[in-house]
Amino acid sequence: QALASAREHDKPVTQAIEVLPRDAMKLAEELSVAIDRGELVLFYQPKVHARRQEITSAEALIRWRHPTRGLILPGDFIPVAEQAQLIHRLTLWTIEQAIVDAATLRDHGHALRLFVNISGQLLSDDAFVAGACRMVGESDVEIGFEVTETSVIRDPASAIANLQRFADIGIRVSIDDYGAGLSSLAYLKQLPARELKIDKLFVTQLTSSNRDPLIVRSTIDLAHALDMEVVAEGVETHAALALLTVMGCDMIQGFLISRPIALDAFIAFMREDRHRRTPEVTRSSFNR
Ligand code: C2E
Ligand code: MG
Ligand code: MG
Ligand code: MG
Repeated sequence: QALASAREHDKPVTQAIEVLPRDAMKLAEELSVAIDRGELVLFYQPKVHARRQEITSAEALIRWRHPTRGLILPGDFIPVAEQAQLIHRLTLWTIEQAIVDAATLRDHGHALRLFVNISGQLLSDDAFVAGACRMVGESDVEIGFEVTETSVIRDPASAIANLQRFADIGIRVSIDDYGAGLSSLAYLKQLPARELKIDKLFVTQLTSSNRDPLIVRSTIDLAHALDMEVVAEGVETHAALALLTVMGCDMIQGFLISRPIALDAFIAFMREDRHRRTPEVTRSSFNR
């Protein structure tokens, strides 16, 4: 499938629109219009602090409410946006929307930091970095950016400098999909990142695999040695949650707590959580 083959996260920016397959080209044109028409929407998935059992942040995950095709997931259009040079505009929209949504959440009594995913190629796009910094700097909410380590390795000098710019204005930087791409301890050490997310590749089968627990535990220890907080993504079972908590993992994210949901549903979820600190999920397994 054309779109699937365009999926590789970190294609060079130089791949211009004309090399896109016909289907992807059509999708890119539709997407460009969709941004202006307001067809894009951010869903939110909570990150739960394992020991405090508290939701302090959430990740914004983009969806496209396509007029005829229904809800399209980011894996099917973000790679196209990246190759068609739409990602800059799309991501500025995403940051702006996350800022609005964070203010709405705060109005409902939930002051959370909202994390936006930032494509690797944008880390060497100075105009994007300036625009993003201005937006977040002028806002009065807390924002974080999730970036993959692979995206840093492509152009380390400019990526590290730009991540530092983000950190300097209070944007929390999180290293996404850790362990699934090109990882380098040399760069990890230099990144101004406060948070490391272990890829769900190592988490979804944590309790049915021999090696994944060893990898996860050593990653947690490594992150702590570098003074970073660790998030496990892809937590789907009580057993995984219990094991991660014992291993000292700081934050939990996954379908067990909540799927990514629209803002209205997320506000309702937060209200429920306030009363009941998450379903049986947290209560039974955290206190075990
Ligand atoms: P990601 O940032 O690593 O996000 C995690 C993905 O795992 C999300 O898929 C999420 O729905 C899914 N997930 C969460 N919990 C679980 C779980 O317990 N089990 C399993 N199997 N999966 C879980 P989604 O929403 O389809 O997003 C896929 C990727 O698309 C994201 O990976 C991110 O790289 C990218 N993406 C999403 N939104 C944006 C955006 O606004 N901008 C950019 N540039 N990329 C985005
Ligand atoms: Mg992410
Ligand atoms: Mg991830
Ligand atoms: Mg991912």
